[in-house]
Amino acid sequence: MIQDTTILDCYTDEPAGLGVPPFVGVWPRYVAGLSEREPTYLTIDDLRWIRYLEHRPDAVIDPPVGRTHIEALNHTRKAEEIRHILETTERLVIIAGVQTPGKYLSARPGTLREVNKLLTSFAVRKVLTGPVLTAGTQVRGGVRPQLPQAEDYEELRPFVFDSYEELQPFALRGATLIGQMPNMPNRIAEIETGRGCPREKGCSFCTEPLKHAVQWRTARHITEEVRTLMDLGVRAFRLGKQSCIYSYEGGDPQKIEAMLSALAMLKPAVLHIDNANPAMVDERRTELFVRYLTPGSTAAMGIESFDPQVTRANNLNCPYEMAFEAIRTINRIGGVRGENGCHALLPGINILLGLAEETAQTLDRNLAALQQIVDEGLLVRRINIRQVVPFPGTALYEQAGQRYLRRNRRYYRAFIDEVREEIDRPMLERLFPIGTVLKDLCSEVHNGGTTFLRQIGSYPILVAVAERLPLGERFDARVTGYMRRSLTAERVR
Ligand code: SF4
Repeated sequence: MIQDTTILDCYTDEPAGLGVPPFVGVWPRYVAGLSEREPTYLTIDDLRWIRYLEHRPDAVIDPPVGRTHIEALNHTRKAEEIRHILETTERLVIIAGVQTPGKYLSARPGTLREVNKLLTSFAVRKVLTGPVLTAGTQVRGGVRPQLPQAEDYEELRPFVFDSYEELQPFALRGATLIGQMPNMPNRIAEIETGRGCPREKGCSFCTEPLKHAVQWRTARHITEEVRTLMDLGVRAFRLGKQSCIYSYEGGDPQKIEAMLSALAMLKPAVLHIDNANPAMVDERRTELFVRYLTPGSTAAMGIESFDPQVTRANNLNCPYEMAFEAIRTINRIGGVRGENGCHALLPGINILLGLAEETAQTLDRNLAALQQIVDEGLLVRRINIRQVVPFPGTALYEQAGQRYLRRNRRYYRAFIDEVREEIDRPMLERLFPIGTVLKDLCSEVHNGGTTFLRQIGSYPILVAVAERLPLGERFDARVTGYMRRSLTAERVR
C-alpha cells in the first residue's frame, strides 16, 4: 500500500487508453485506489503554474489577448497550496506515458525531462509509474522515445494486477479522486473493458501486446465502476481502454449487449467507444453499439496504411477491402443523425507514417483510398495521421527503427496537406452541412475574441465561435463554415 502519497498526473495516451484532459484516464484512479487514504492530486499544469508565477507574478492563464495557456489550464489549486503539498508530501507518484502522441486542444502532457526539471527545487521522493515504464514516452511523433533513467527516481514502480477481480476494489476506491480534478462537470471518464491484443502476433509498431496478455473485464465490474463514478458526479464515459471494443469477450454479441445495456440503463449523458478492429466489425455488433451508445461516437480503426506492401511488412490487421467493408457497414447502420447534431456512430481512420517498407507510393495509395471513400459517398468522422514512434521492444524498433521516417519525411507535409484539403474538406461539408445545430458544446479555450468548443465525447469536432464566451460552459451553435479540421459556427444558445 502506498501511504501519504501525492499523485502527479502528467497525462497518458496509449494505443488503448487516453488520459489527457478532458479525458480522465484510469491510471490516476487506479493508483489512488492503492492508497489507504485518498492521495492528493496534482497535475503537471500545477508545476508549470507555480513556475510561471515565480517569473511573472501577474501571469494569467486565459489572457484577453492571444491564446489560453493550455499548459497550465488544468491546474488544480492555488500556487501556495501546490508548493505546500510538494514541500510536505512523503512521496510523489508521477504518472506519465504518451505512446500515441496527438494534438490536444486544452492540455499538454508532461515530458520526463520537463517534470524532473520542474521538481528540482523540491526534496521529494519520486516514484515513476504509468505506460512510460513499458517502452518509454514521446509527446511528438516521428522521433525517439524518452526512456526513464532509474537514477532520476527513487523508484520505478509498475502498476500491475493479475486479474480484474483483483483490480476492482482499487478501481472503485480510486474513483473518489475525481473530486480533486479540475473542470469536472466537463470531463469524460475513460473506462477499461479489457487489455492485451487479441491477435496472435501484434502490429509491428504497437506497445499494447508488450504490456498484457488478453483479458476481458466483466460487465458487472464495468457497470459497478461507472455507477460509482456517476454517484460522484461523472456524466460522460468512453469505453476506450481496450485494443478493440468489437472484440469484447471474443466478440460475443450477447456479452457485448449485456455490458452495453447495463451501462445504458444507468443513463449517462455520454456513452461512447474508441478502438475497433475492422476485422471484427459486422452488422450485428454495430447495431448493438448504435442502439446503446449516445450519438456522436466514433469507432476509431487502426487501418494505418492502405498499401498492401506496408500492411504485410508490419503485420497490420486490415487489408484494403476489409477496411472498406467495415467503413461501409458502420456507415449503413450508424450514419443517422442524432439529436445532438452528430451521426450515431461513424468510423474514424488512423494512418501511420514511417512504417516498414513505406515508399512515396504508399502515400499515393493512402490518398487514393481516402479519395475512394469520398467518391463512394461514405462518411468518416476523422482521419488521424501521425508519424510513428518506434518504441523499444516493438518489431518496428528492432527491424527498421527510424529508417523509413528519415527516408520519407520529406513527403509527409504535402501528403497531409492534400488529405486536409481534398478529403477532409468535402467530408466536413457532408458531415456537418451549413445550418446544422450542434448541441451541448463545451467552451474549452480562447484565442483572442474566438472561443473554441467541442462536444464531450470521443473525437468531437472542433467548433470556433467568433465570440469570447466564458470557458467551461455549454452552448449550442449553428454551423456557418469550414476551416482546416474544424467548423465555424454562431451561437444559438
Ligand atoms: S491490433 Fe495492432 S494496433 Fe491494435 S492492439 Fe493489436 S497490435 Fe496494437
